[in-house]
Amino acid sequence: MKLDLGPEYEAFRGEMSDWIEANRPDGLEDLDERAMYMGTAGLTGKAAEAYETWSQRLLEARLICPHWPESVGGRGLTGVHMAILNEEFARAGVPRVTRGMGESLVGPSIIVHGSEEQKAHFLPRIISGQDRYCQGFSEPDHGSDLGGVETRAVVDGDEVVIHGSKVWTSGAHLANMIFILCRTDPDVPKHRGLSYVLAPLKDNGIEMRPLRQPSGASGFCQEFIEGARAPLFNVIGGLNNGWRVAMTTLGHERGGQATVAHLGFEREFWDLVETARKRGKTADPLVRQQLAWAYTQVELMRYSGLRTLARVAAGRPPGPEASVAKLFWSEYHKRLGEIAISIEGADGLLRPDGDGYQVSKWQNVFLSSRAGTIYSGTSEIQRNIIGERALGLPKEPKGPRRS
Ligand SMILES: Cc1cc2nc3c(=O)[nH]c(=O)nc-3n(C[C@H](O)[C@H](O)[C@H](O)COP(=O)(O)OP(=O)(O)OC[C@H]3O[C@@H](n4cnc5c(N)ncnc54)[C@H](O)[C@@H]3O)c2cc1C
Repeated sequence: MKLDLGPEYEAFRGEMSDWIEANRPDGLEDLDERAMYMGTAGLTGKAAEAYETWSQRLLEARLICPHWPESVGGRGLTGVHMAILNEEFARAGVPRVTRGMGESLVGPSIIVHGSEEQKAHFLPRIISGQDRYCQGFSEPDHGSDLGGVETRAVVDGDEVVIHGSKVWTSGAHLANMIFILCRTDPDVPKHRGLSYVLAPLKDNGIEMRPLRQPSGASGFCQEFIEGARAPLFNVIGGLNNGWRVAMTTLGHERGGQATVAHLGFEREFWDLVETARKRGKTADPLVRQQLAWAYTQVELMRYSGLRTLARVAAGRPPGPEASVAKLFWSEYHKRLGEIAISIEGADGLLRPDGDGYQVSKWQNVFLSSRAGTIYSGTSEIQRNIIGERALGLPKEPKGPRRS
């Protein structure tokens, strides 16, 4: 279904699709931007050069972080423009080069809570790629219970000094900056004593240890922080106001992709149909039923994305749809991984030959999709949010504190 968004948006769609056609270098087809950003795409030679050229062209056309205000280097695009932009990049099969968590999490939080000076300093550095961020929220004893974080920071002159530990920090080994939620006042109720600090990662008293995942990748680290320093200028939203800033970050983490999430899943679905074809399984009634189920789920994501888009177009925030979307795609993807492995049959049990810990495409989907129902808030936490904030059910009774 093609949605008519009116002449202004259709003109923008035409402008974007013409620009992409005129500027795309060869050799970028169907490159996974997330894998590029996380350094796992393994791009070399001409393809790597093409990606570099493409990134530079996007930068010059202000198509990196294009939803950010023009005053800091963006184009001030609305949510509807962004949905169109993402669709056109996906349709053309070229990556929309992003700045990862800098673009999707910390940047939007600075835009909402930062001072004008902080915006002018931090945002252009994210757009240019000079600063690359990772997210220091979770700790060994605090994940879902984020308000309980124990990493401490004390003010020393015009700096804060941080001690503690963060864990599951995606892409920390590739970042030069970390946004840390830390406790700056231990004597007030827990959500009121937190601050949101942007700290340099290198040569700053932060030891990083990579963590190995079942897929063989080491996409995240644990950090041991002993006396890391950051200027007070790097505290976003003011001292002890970090919870509000963190909630803005989480809102973007859970809802940011809601309008376009189906695009990647749609491509992946058709790849799985192709795999089933190659394996001669498309006449198997069980496989047909499973594929039909998966197609239905992707279509549901599309329509739910359109509903979110309608809210955004009407100038309303995504609301509880962010949690509905997060719960839906992550549970879907876990099930799709299981279906894919069952279509592969016995081959799905054997890792491919090669150096290191190789996994096949579908083994990777099967293994890495298990994480989707944990990061950005677990499925249980999303269900609590939907129950309490969307449906207005009574609050979850407090259980005993876990040890
Ligand atoms: C791939 C991956 C990448 C990640 N990247 C990052 C990152 O970059 N930065 C970062 O800060 N963190 C990151 N995380 C951490 C992630 O945010 C936490 O794992 C998540 O918040 C859950 O916290 P936890 O692991 O401490 O589990 P816990 O909070 O201990 O939860 C354990 C279990 O109890 C359930 N549970 C907890 N509380 C409740 C409740 N109130 N009601 C019902 N059930 C409950 C949970 O759903 C879960 O099943 C990442 C995690 C993964 C898997």
